[in-house]
Amino acid sequence: MLHFWYKEFPQYPRDHKDYWRTRLIAHSLLICCCYFLILTLLNVFYFSSYDIALIDALGLITSLSICIWFNKTAQVSKAAWVVALMIVSLIMLFIVSAKGHAHSLFWATLIPPFTFFLVGRNWGSILSSIAFGICAYLVYLQQQLSITIGLSALFNFIEVSIAHVLLFRFYEKTRFSAYSHLSKRNAEIKQLAETDKLTGLYNRQKFDFELSQLLSENNNERKSNIVMICDIDHFKKVNDTYGHLAGDNVLSEFANILQNKLTNSALIARWGGEEFTIILRDSSLDNAINEAEELRAFIATHLIDNRALTISIGIAKAHVDDTALHLLERADKALYKAKLQGRDQVCVASDNLTKTHYENTLSKSAAI
Ligand code: GH3
Ligand code: MG
Ligand code: MG
Repeated sequence: MLHFWYKEFPQYPRDHKDYWRTRLIAHSLLICCCYFLILTLLNVFYFSSYDIALIDALGLITSLSICIWFNKTAQVSKAAWVVALMIVSLIMLFIVSAKGHAHSLFWATLIPPFTFFLVGRNWGSILSSIAFGICAYLVYLQQQLSITIGLSALFNFIEVSIAHVLLFRFYEKTRFSAYSHLSKRNAEIKQLAETDKLTGLYNRQKFDFELSQLLSENNNERKSNIVMICDIDHFKKVNDTYGHLAGDNVLSEFANILQNKLTNSALIARWGGEEFTIILRDSSLDNAINEAEELRAFIATHLIDNRALTISIGIAKAHVDDTALHLLERADKALYKAKLQGRDQVCVASDNLTKTHYENTLSKSAAI
């Protein structure tokens, strides 16, 4: 039944600015139609008050006419105004006809939530102030009377309390819906801002941020972190010989290999062009050299997108009080040396001294 009712109203996606306003208009008109129908029937068949039944029937016809007009024109702002004015008029008509007795004034508390939602905070404030002004006047008139509180006061209190709970449920639902939508969008935007589109790896901004974070933790806990820069040798030739698209395919396949070959905890990013940066957290230098050497050997012996390629890798270990810039600079220098010494090799930067992996192994053997 409810589904059938809402189906007739203009349809908007959940994140559209008019979605919840249209829902409230539909709810309000449904309640008005049911309310007037019940009152008309009661007044005709139970109380035999035909004059009041006529007013209720007019209310029913008006509500149905607004529904039909709104469904045809889909003018949300105008419909919101019409419904807001209708609700305010009905409530005030009831309060004034009851002269503010029997807690009927309590109905006026429904006016701010309705009007603020339907016609905005400025008009909501104005309409609410007018309504409360009239209520204050009615209270002023009552000051001389000795008031007895009867059953109708209890009914007024219960009915308005139920209406308030339903209205605030509605408010909370719209707030929750807007919040969930925003947080989902934020997560998507964050992911887009951190990811390299071609390879799906982290991008340079995310890498620099993570490295800076890690080094500040590193200062406190003195953990061992390693940075590697990995560069495809003579990559320009791939582009020049097979075209840019082939180059792109090589880059994305190489990114897959990095993800599969390196340890799961490695943070891998595309730093730019055909250069990839890797952070190995809590790793020894020996372990990093082994991982880099395995990777280099794998690339040298396997085809990437049907092309034989090699890579060069520069490695640097973080010092206490290191900065991201200094650490990357040392790794870059090591990479530069690997290139100078013929490419297809791993080179380690240790303090101010850079050595190829081969030299590094030799010096370690000599020290033993
Ligand atoms: P080296 O061994 O010294 O690293 O030589 P190289 O040719 O690999 O390096 P160079 O810096 O001379 O060239 C890098 C090339 O990478 C140049 C540029 O056209 C290409 N490149 C950068 N970004 C992309 C990209 O997103 N897609 C493709 N296909 N090529 C890219
Ligand atoms: Mg290169
Ligand atoms: Mg390069």
